[in-house]
Amino acid sequence: MSVQVDLLLKEIGQLVTLAPPAGTPQGAPWRGPLSELATISDAALAVHEGRIVDLGPAAEVAARVQATREVSAGGGLVLPGFVDPHTHLPWLGSREAEFELRLAGKSYAEIAKAGGGIRSTTRSVRGASVDQLTEAALPRLDRMLSCGTTTAEAKSGYGLALAAERTQLEAIRALDSRHAIDLVATNLAAHEIPDEHRADRGRWLDLLCEELLPDLAGLAEFCDVFCEDHVFTVPESRRILSRAKELGYGLKIHADEIVPTGGAELAVELGAVSADHLACTGQAGIAALAASETVAVLLPGTSFYLRKSDHAPGRAMIDAGVAVALATDLNPGSSLTESLPMILTLACLQCGLTPAEALRAATLNAACAIGRGAEIGSLEVGKQADFVVWDAPNWRYLPTHFGVSLVRAVYKRGALVFNAEAAA
Ligand SMILES: [Zn+2]
Repeated sequence: MSVQVDLLLKEIGQLVTLAPPAGTPQGAPWRGPLSELATISDAALAVHEGRIVDLGPAAEVAARVQATREVSAGGGLVLPGFVDPHTHLPWLGSREAEFELRLAGKSYAEIAKAGGGIRSTTRSVRGASVDQLTEAALPRLDRMLSCGTTTAEAKSGYGLALAAERTQLEAIRALDSRHAIDLVATNLAAHEIPDEHRADRGRWLDLLCEELLPDLAGLAEFCDVFCEDHVFTVPESRRILSRAKELGYGLKIHADEIVPTGGAELAVELGAVSADHLACTGQAGIAALAASETVAVLLPGTSFYLRKSDHAPGRAMIDAGVAVALATDLNPGSSLTESLPMILTLACLQCGLTPAEALRAATLNAACAIGRGAEIGSLEVGKQADFVVWDAPNWRYLPTHFGVSLVRAVYKRGALVFNAEAAA
Protein backbone atom coordinates (compact mmCIF):
# COMPACT_ATOMS: atom_id res chain seq x y z
CA MET A 1 0.00 0.00 0.00
CA SER A 2 1.56 3.28 -1.00
CA VAL A 3 0.88 6.59 0.71
CA GLN A 4 -0.67 9.46 -1.26
CA VAL A 5 1.55 12.62 -1.19
CA ASP A 6 1.34 16.11 -2.72
CA LEU A 7 4.89 16.26 -4.05
CA LEU A 8 7.77 13.92 -4.83
CA LEU A 9 11.13 15.60 -5.42
CA LYS A 10 13.18 13.04 -7.32
CA GLU A 11 16.55 12.83 -9.12
CA ILE A 12 18.36 14.38 -6.15
CA GLY A 13 22.10 13.89 -6.79
CA GLN A 14 22.99 14.25 -3.12
CA LEU A 15 20.55 14.68 -0.23
CA VAL A 16 21.97 16.00 3.05
CA THR A 17 19.37 15.97 5.83
CA LEU A 18 21.47 17.65 8.59
CA ALA A 19 19.53 15.46 11.05
CA PRO A 20 21.48 15.38 14.32
CA PRO A 21 22.81 12.14 15.80
CA ALA A 22 20.27 9.78 17.37
CA GLY A 23 19.68 10.73 20.99
CA THR A 24 19.79 14.51 20.37
CA PRO A 25 16.62 15.85 22.04
CA GLN A 26 14.02 17.23 19.61
CA GLY A 27 14.69 20.93 19.03
CA ALA A 28 18.12 20.91 20.72
CA PRO A 29 21.27 22.08 18.92
CA TRP A 30 23.98 19.74 17.62
CA ARG A 31 27.37 20.10 19.34
CA GLY A 32 30.93 18.90 18.95
CA PRO A 33 33.52 18.80 16.17
CA LEU A 34 32.13 17.63 12.83
CA SER A 35 33.95 16.90 9.58
CA GLU A 36 31.53 14.56 7.79
CA LEU A 37 27.82 14.77 6.99
CA ALA A 38 25.60 11.80 6.24
CA THR A 39 24.47 11.83 2.60
CA ILE A 40 22.04 9.87 0.42
CA SER A 41 22.87 9.61 -3.30
CA ASP A 42 20.19 9.28 -5.98
CA ALA A 43 17.58 10.28 -3.42
CA ALA A 44 13.95 11.40 -3.29
CA LEU A 45 11.93 13.49 -0.83
CA ALA A 46 8.15 13.28 -0.38
CA VAL A 47 5.98 16.13 0.95
CA HIS A 48 2.35 16.17 2.07
CA GLU A 49 0.50 19.25 3.29
CA GLY A 50 3.76 21.17 3.73
CA ARG A 51 5.55 18.52 5.78
CA ILE A 52 8.17 15.91 4.98
CA VAL A 53 6.56 12.47 4.99
CA ASP A 54 9.33 10.34 3.47
CA LEU A 55 12.90 10.56 2.21
CA GLY A 56 15.67 8.19 1.23
CA PRO A 57 17.06 6.31 -1.78
CA ALA A 58 14.79 7.12 -4.75
CA ALA A 59 13.79 3.54 -5.51
CA GLU A 60 12.70 2.92 -1.93
CA VAL A 61 10.70 6.16 -1.61
CA ALA A 62 9.03 5.56 -5.01
CA ALA A 63 7.83 2.16 -3.79
CA ARG A 64 6.26 3.71 -0.68
CA VAL A 65 4.48 6.80 -2.05
CA GLN A 66 2.04 7.77 -4.78
CA ALA A 67 2.59 11.44 -5.74
CA THR A 68 0.08 13.89 -7.18
CA ARG A 69 3.04 15.81 -8.61
CA GLU A 70 6.62 14.80 -9.33
CA VAL A 71 9.48 17.29 -9.76
CA SER A 72 13.09 16.61 -10.75
CA ALA A 73 16.00 18.09 -8.79
CA GLY A 74 18.10 17.60 -11.95
CA GLY A 75 20.84 15.75 -10.09
CA GLY A 76 21.47 18.74 -7.80
CA LEU A 77 22.38 18.92 -4.13
CA VAL A 78 19.43 19.25 -1.72
CA LEU A 79 19.81 20.77 1.76
CA PRO A 80 17.40 22.16 4.36
CA GLY A 81 16.56 25.83 3.78
CA PHE A 82 19.02 28.13 5.52
CA VAL A 83 17.91 29.94 8.69
CA ASP A 84 19.34 33.42 9.31
CA PRO A 85 19.00 34.01 13.09
CA HIS A 86 20.30 37.62 13.27
CA THR A 87 19.25 40.42 10.90
CA HIS A 88 18.35 44.11 11.22
CA LEU A 89 15.97 43.81 8.25
CA PRO A 90 13.67 46.87 8.36
CA TRP A 91 15.51 50.11 7.69
CA LEU A 92 15.51 53.07 5.31
CA GLY A 93 18.43 54.90 3.74
CA SER A 94 21.96 53.76 3.01
CA ARG A 95 25.39 54.44 4.47
CA GLU A 96 27.87 54.06 1.62
CA ALA A 97 29.76 57.17 2.80
CA GLU A 98 30.76 55.23 5.94
CA PHE A 99 32.29 52.51 3.79
CA GLU A 100 34.72 55.06 2.36
CA LEU A 101 35.40 56.53 5.81
CA ARG A 102 36.40 53.04 6.97
CA LEU A 103 38.65 52.66 3.93
CA ALA A 104 40.25 55.94 4.99
CA GLY A 105 41.01 54.40 8.37
CA LYS A 106 38.13 55.54 10.59
CA SER A 107 36.83 53.00 13.11
CA TYR A 108 33.18 52.07 13.68
CA ALA A 109 33.28 53.88 17.05
CA GLU A 110 34.77 57.05 15.49
CA ILE A 111 32.13 57.05 12.76
CA ALA A 112 29.38 56.58 15.36
CA LYS A 113 30.75 59.47 17.44
CA ALA A 114 30.66 61.74 14.38
CA GLY A 115 26.92 61.09 13.92
CA GLY A 116 27.16 58.04 11.66
CA GLY A 117 26.36 54.46 12.55
CA ILE A 118 23.09 53.34 14.12
CA ARG A 119 21.94 56.89 14.92
CA SER A 120 22.22 57.96 11.28
CA THR A 121 19.80 55.16 10.31
CA THR A 122 17.57 56.23 13.20
CA ARG A 123 17.22 59.66 11.55
CA SER A 124 15.93 57.90 8.38
CA VAL A 125 13.63 55.47 10.19
CA ARG A 126 11.93 57.98 12.48
CA GLY A 127 8.91 59.33 10.65
CA ALA A 128 8.82 56.43 8.18
CA SER A 129 5.54 54.56 7.73
CA VAL A 130 5.01 50.83 8.02
CA ASP A 131 4.50 50.75 4.23
CA GLN A 132 7.76 52.59 3.50
CA LEU A 133 9.75 50.22 5.72
CA THR A 134 7.99 47.20 4.23
CA GLU A 135 8.60 48.23 0.61
CA ALA A 136 12.27 48.94 1.36
CA ALA A 137 12.76 45.51 2.96
CA LEU A 138 10.94 43.31 0.41
CA PRO A 139 13.85 43.31 -2.12
CA ARG A 140 16.19 42.32 0.73
CA LEU A 141 13.98 39.32 1.47
CA ASP A 142 13.98 38.43 -2.24
CA ARG A 143 17.78 38.44 -2.22
CA MET A 144 17.86 36.33 0.96
CA LEU A 145 15.54 33.79 -0.66
CA SER A 146 17.71 33.70 -3.80
CA CYS A 147 20.65 32.78 -1.53
CA GLY A 148 18.78 29.88 0.09
CA THR A 149 17.33 31.45 3.27
CA THR A 150 13.80 30.25 4.12
CA THR A 151 13.41 31.60 7.71
CA ALA A 152 14.98 34.66 9.35
CA GLU A 153 14.97 36.62 12.54
CA ALA A 154 14.38 40.39 12.16
CA LYS A 155 15.08 43.09 14.75
CA SER A 156 13.74 46.56 15.36
CA GLY A 157 16.24 48.96 16.95
CA TYR A 158 16.52 51.91 14.57
CA GLY A 159 13.50 53.78 15.94
CA LEU A 160 14.81 54.25 19.51
CA ALA A 161 11.44 55.69 20.57
CA LEU A 162 8.13 53.95 21.24
CA ALA A 163 6.26 54.92 18.05
CA ALA A 164 9.18 54.31 15.69
CA GLU A 165 10.06 50.96 17.30
CA ARG A 166 6.41 49.93 16.96
CA THR A 167 6.46 50.90 13.27
CA GLN A 168 9.52 48.71 12.69
CA LEU A 169 7.94 45.73 14.45
CA GLU A 170 4.68 46.22 12.52
CA ALA A 171 6.72 46.27 9.29
CA ILE A 172 8.29 42.93 10.30
CA ARG A 173 4.80 41.51 10.84
CA ALA A 174 3.66 42.81 7.41
CA LEU A 175 6.78 41.40 5.73
CA ASP A 176 6.19 38.00 7.35
CA SER A 177 2.69 37.85 5.89
CA ARG A 178 3.69 39.18 2.44
CA HIS A 179 6.85 37.17 1.77
CA ALA A 180 7.66 33.46 1.48
CA ILE A 181 10.40 33.76 4.10
CA ASP A 182 9.05 33.24 7.62
CA LEU A 183 10.15 35.98 10.03
CA VAL A 184 10.65 35.87 13.80
CA ALA A 185 10.54 39.35 15.40
CA THR A 186 12.92 40.72 18.03
CA ASN A 187 12.49 43.96 20.01
CA LEU A 188 15.92 45.65 19.96
CA ALA A 189 14.84 49.03 21.31
CA ALA A 190 17.96 48.73 23.52
CA HIS A 191 20.22 49.13 20.46
CA GLU A 192 21.65 52.57 21.28
CA ILE A 193 21.13 55.61 23.48
CA PRO A 194 19.08 58.06 21.36
CA ASP A 195 20.49 61.58 20.95
CA GLU A 196 17.80 63.14 23.16
CA HIS A 197 18.87 60.91 26.09
CA ARG A 198 22.65 61.19 25.69
CA ALA A 199 22.94 63.39 28.76
CA ASP A 200 20.38 61.39 30.68
CA ARG A 201 20.81 57.68 29.96
CA GLY A 202 19.07 56.65 33.20
CA ARG A 203 15.83 58.11 31.82
CA TRP A 204 16.23 56.04 28.63
CA LEU A 205 16.74 52.87 30.70
CA ASP A 206 13.58 53.67 32.67
CA LEU A 207 11.63 54.25 29.45
CA LEU A 208 12.86 50.96 28.02
CA CYS A 209 11.83 49.00 31.10
CA GLU A 210 8.58 50.84 31.83
CA GLU A 211 7.26 51.61 28.32
CA LEU A 212 9.05 50.22 25.29
CA LEU A 213 9.41 46.64 26.49
CA PRO A 214 5.91 46.23 28.00
CA ASP A 215 4.05 48.13 25.25
CA LEU A 216 5.70 46.20 22.39
CA ALA A 217 5.61 42.74 23.98
CA GLY A 218 2.78 41.58 21.72
CA LEU A 219 4.76 42.38 18.57
CA ALA A 220 8.02 40.53 19.28
CA GLU A 221 8.94 37.06 20.47
CA PHE A 222 12.46 38.01 21.58
CA CYS A 223 14.14 40.98 23.26
CA ASP A 224 17.75 41.85 22.47
CA VAL A 225 20.23 44.37 23.89
CA PHE A 226 23.49 45.81 22.51
CA CYS A 227 25.81 45.03 25.46
CA GLU A 228 29.05 46.77 24.50
CA ASP A 229 31.62 49.19 25.82
CA HIS A 230 30.13 52.34 24.26
CA VAL A 231 26.45 51.27 24.47
CA PHE A 232 24.92 49.30 27.41
CA THR A 233 27.04 47.97 30.28
CA VAL A 234 26.59 44.47 31.67
CA PRO A 235 24.55 45.72 34.71
CA GLU A 236 22.34 47.84 32.40
CA SER A 237 21.90 44.90 30.03
CA ARG A 238 21.03 42.64 32.97
CA ARG A 239 18.33 45.09 34.08
CA ILE A 240 16.81 45.35 30.57
CA LEU A 241 16.86 41.61 29.86
CA SER A 242 15.55 40.68 33.32
CA ARG A 243 12.60 43.01 32.75
CA ALA A 244 12.07 41.46 29.29
CA LYS A 245 12.08 37.98 30.81
CA GLU A 246 9.39 39.01 33.31
CA LEU A 247 7.32 40.25 30.38
CA GLY A 248 7.56 36.87 28.62
CA TYR A 249 10.14 37.65 25.93
CA GLY A 250 12.79 35.11 24.95
CA LEU A 251 16.24 36.69 25.35
CA LYS A 252 19.05 37.51 22.93
CA ILE A 253 22.14 39.65 23.37
CA HIS A 254 24.74 41.41 21.20
CA ALA A 255 27.83 40.50 23.23
CA ASP A 256 31.61 40.89 23.19
CA GLU A 257 31.67 42.32 19.64
CA ILE A 258 34.30 45.01 20.02
CA VAL A 259 35.75 44.41 23.49
CA PRO A 260 35.17 41.54 25.96
CA THR A 261 32.56 42.72 28.47
CA GLY A 262 31.22 39.47 29.97
CA GLY A 263 28.15 39.56 27.73
CA ALA A 264 28.41 35.83 26.98
CA GLU A 265 28.36 35.02 30.70
CA LEU A 266 25.34 37.31 31.16
CA ALA A 267 23.48 35.46 28.37
CA VAL A 268 24.09 32.17 30.16
CA GLU A 269 23.14 33.61 33.57
CA LEU A 270 19.77 34.77 32.21
CA GLY A 271 19.07 31.67 30.07
CA ALA A 272 19.16 33.55 26.74
CA VAL A 273 18.32 31.53 23.64
CA SER A 274 21.39 33.03 21.94
CA ALA A 275 24.46 35.21 22.47
CA ASP A 276 25.53 36.90 19.25
CA HIS A 277 28.81 38.30 17.77
CA LEU A 278 31.29 37.00 20.43
CA ALA A 279 34.34 38.13 18.43
CA CYS A 280 36.21 38.92 21.66
CA THR A 281 34.80 36.24 23.98
CA GLY A 282 37.51 34.67 26.15
CA GLN A 283 37.96 31.32 27.87
CA ALA A 284 35.50 32.03 30.70
CA GLY A 285 32.76 33.00 28.25
CA ILE A 286 33.41 29.92 26.11
CA ALA A 287 33.25 27.65 29.17
CA ALA A 288 30.00 29.26 30.32
CA LEU A 289 28.40 28.86 26.88
CA ALA A 290 29.56 25.24 26.60
CA ALA A 291 27.81 24.34 29.85
CA SER A 292 24.54 26.05 28.80
CA GLU A 293 21.64 25.80 26.35
CA THR A 294 22.51 29.23 24.89
CA VAL A 295 23.48 29.10 21.19
CA ALA A 296 26.51 31.16 20.10
CA VAL A 297 25.56 33.04 16.91
CA LEU A 298 28.72 34.07 15.04
CA LEU A 299 28.59 36.95 12.55
CA PRO A 300 31.82 36.76 10.54
CA GLY A 301 30.44 39.11 7.88
CA THR A 302 30.63 41.93 10.41
CA SER A 303 34.27 41.47 11.38
CA PHE A 304 35.11 41.13 7.66
CA TYR A 305 33.17 44.28 6.70
CA LEU A 306 34.55 46.34 9.61
CA ARG A 307 38.12 45.20 8.78
CA LYS A 308 38.59 43.66 12.24
CA SER A 309 41.39 41.31 13.06
CA ASP A 310 39.38 39.81 15.95
CA HIS A 311 37.36 36.89 14.62
CA ALA A 312 34.99 34.90 16.81
CA PRO A 313 36.85 31.85 18.18
CA GLY A 314 34.52 29.37 16.48
CA ARG A 315 37.04 26.52 16.49
CA ALA A 316 37.69 26.82 20.24
CA MET A 317 33.96 27.12 20.92
CA ILE A 318 33.02 23.99 19.00
CA ASP A 319 35.92 22.03 20.52
CA ALA A 320 34.72 23.09 23.99
CA GLY A 321 31.16 21.94 23.26
CA VAL A 322 29.44 25.27 22.48
CA ALA A 323 26.44 25.06 20.12
CA VAL A 324 27.48 27.37 17.25
CA ALA A 325 25.21 29.01 14.66
CA LEU A 326 25.89 31.54 11.88
CA ALA A 327 24.00 34.62 10.68
CA THR A 328 24.45 37.50 8.24
CA ASP A 329 23.81 40.38 10.70
CA LEU A 330 22.23 42.03 7.62
CA ASN A 331 22.26 45.80 8.30
CA PRO A 332 23.16 48.98 6.40
CA GLY A 333 26.36 49.85 8.28
CA SER A 334 28.38 46.91 9.55
CA SER A 335 27.33 43.93 7.40
CA LEU A 336 25.42 44.76 4.22
CA THR A 337 24.83 41.29 2.81
CA GLU A 338 21.84 38.97 2.45
CA SER A 339 24.05 35.99 1.58
CA LEU A 340 24.44 33.16 4.09
CA PRO A 341 26.59 31.19 1.57
CA MET A 342 29.12 34.05 1.76
CA ILE A 343 28.97 33.84 5.58
CA LEU A 344 29.70 30.08 5.42
CA THR A 345 32.91 30.76 3.51
CA LEU A 346 33.97 33.47 5.98
CA ALA A 347 33.17 31.22 8.95
CA CYS A 348 35.51 28.55 7.56
CA LEU A 349 38.31 30.98 6.67
CA GLN A 350 38.12 33.30 9.70
CA CYS A 351 36.54 31.34 12.55
CA GLY A 352 38.04 27.93 11.82
CA LEU A 353 34.82 26.03 11.19
CA THR A 354 34.88 22.99 8.92
CA PRO A 355 32.44 23.06 5.96
CA ALA A 356 30.29 20.47 7.82
CA GLU A 357 30.19 22.65 10.95
CA ALA A 358 29.36 25.74 8.86
CA LEU A 359 26.41 23.99 7.18
CA ARG A 360 25.12 22.72 10.54
CA ALA A 361 25.50 26.26 11.92
CA ALA A 362 23.32 27.79 9.16
CA THR A 363 20.58 25.15 9.39
CA LEU A 364 19.69 23.18 12.55
CA ASN A 365 21.71 25.25 15.03
CA ALA A 366 20.46 28.51 13.47
CA ALA A 367 16.90 27.25 13.90
CA CYS A 368 17.67 26.50 17.57
CA ALA A 369 18.98 30.05 17.99
CA ILE A 370 15.44 31.34 17.28
CA GLY A 371 13.61 28.57 19.14
CA ARG A 372 12.53 26.73 15.97
CA GLY A 373 14.79 23.66 16.14
CA ALA A 374 11.88 21.22 16.44
CA GLU A 375 10.15 22.59 13.34
CA ILE A 376 12.83 23.53 10.75
CA GLY A 377 16.60 23.35 10.14
CA SER A 378 16.87 19.68 9.13
CA LEU A 379 15.11 17.37 6.70
CA GLU A 380 13.34 14.80 8.86
CA VAL A 381 9.94 13.14 8.64
CA GLY A 382 7.39 15.41 10.35
CA LYS A 383 9.35 18.63 9.93
CA GLN A 384 8.33 21.54 7.71
CA ALA A 385 9.29 20.93 4.05
CA ASP A 386 11.66 23.90 3.60
CA PHE A 387 14.48 22.87 1.27
CA VAL A 388 16.83 24.22 -1.38
CA VAL A 389 18.14 22.65 -4.61
CA TRP A 390 21.74 23.76 -5.22
CA ASP A 391 23.73 23.73 -8.43
CA ALA A 392 26.60 21.95 -6.66
CA PRO A 393 28.01 18.42 -6.90
CA ASN A 394 28.18 17.88 -3.11
CA TRP A 395 27.88 19.73 0.20
CA ARG A 396 31.65 20.30 0.54
CA TYR A 397 31.51 22.41 -2.60
CA LEU A 398 29.22 25.11 -1.13
CA PRO A 399 31.67 27.13 1.05
CA THR A 400 34.38 26.50 -1.54
CA HIS A 401 32.68 28.62 -4.23
CA PHE A 402 32.14 32.07 -2.73
CA GLY A 403 30.56 35.39 -3.62
CA VAL A 404 27.86 33.98 -5.94
CA SER A 405 24.58 32.15 -5.39
CA LEU A 406 24.45 28.54 -6.56
CA VAL A 407 20.75 28.22 -5.65
CA ARG A 408 18.66 26.56 -8.35
CA ALA A 409 15.29 26.41 -6.56
CA VAL A 410 13.81 27.10 -3.12
CA TYR A 411 10.79 25.30 -1.64
CA LYS A 412 8.84 26.56 1.39
CA ARG A 413 6.33 24.15 2.97
CA GLY A 414 6.71 22.05 -0.19
CA ALA A 415 5.82 24.94 -2.56
CA LEU A 416 8.29 26.33 -5.11
CA VAL A 417 8.98 29.94 -4.03
CA PHE A 418 12.15 30.71 -6.00
CA ASN A 419 13.38 29.37 -9.32
CA ALA A 420 16.74 30.68 -10.57
CA GLU A 421 15.86 29.95 -14.19
CA ALA A 422 12.62 31.91 -13.99
CA ALA A 423 14.46 34.78 -12.25
CA ALA A 424 17.16 34.94 -14.96
ZN1 LIG B 1 23.30 42.88 15.12
